[in-house]
Amino acid sequence: MKINIIGSGSIGADAMSASCLIDEHILVDVPNGIIKHLKNLNYDILKIDTIIITHLHGDHFFDLPFLMLGKYFNHDKTLVKIICPYGTIKKLKALFRIGFPYDFRKVMNCINIEFIEHKGRNNIHLGEYLIESKNVKHGKIKPSFGYIIHKDGKKIGISGDSCYCSAIEKIVEQSDISILDMSLKDEGNKSHMGYLNIKDICNKYQNKKIIATHMHNSARKVAINNPIKNLIIPNDNEEIIL
Ligand SMILES: [Zn+2]
Repeated sequence: MKINIIGSGSIGADAMSASCLIDEHILVDVPNGIIKHLKNLNYDILKIDTIIITHLHGDHFFDLPFLMLGKYFNHDKTLVKIICPYGTIKKLKALFRIGFPYDFRKVMNCINIEFIEHKGRNNIHLGEYLIESKNVKHGKIKPSFGYIIHKDGKKIGISGDSCYCSAIEKIVEQSDISILDMSLKDEGNKSHMGYLNIKDICNKYQNKKIIATHMHNSARKVAINNPIKNLIIPNDNEEIIL
């Protein structure tokens, strides 16, 4: 499988907000501005047929209306399946009400989007992929999901935003490579992991590869200055082959 870390930053970081693309057609999280960013990086938006949303913070789904409007204006009727937390459609409708009143239904009638809302612990089969969700802990934002994407016996783990919890350990244990929230430069908190959590995980699972994401500038700087053997600190649009 091919991973492109499209964005590796948090809100306020220089890097784009956290998002990644698997095999150029599964987009994990849709932060503000990511669709135009992907176009500027010369990705083919029409190839993206699956979107996975980890949780309903704005820096993870606020570009969905722009993805939908872009398809509407370009008369693009290619099917996109959106695997997302229960409640996503309600929040999307609210975003449309604020920004583009009366347009949600009009846009939905002209494009081909299928929402697969879920409450967790589902195994969703999509073509040759299996998408497994894990309930992670992200402060008061419930539900918040991590995911494991399976294909041909290989597994990519994704933490979404999460503190260090048992679900994160399960994701790392069960995956070959895991993309983990490393927002903070030292200890984590109730919402996010920090460099020291990631260091513990890398030491505990030395045969696993970890990719840090959702980094504040300070977390990136600490990790670059204190490298860990099995930890990748990606730049935006870095490609990693599994
Ligand atoms: Zn969040």
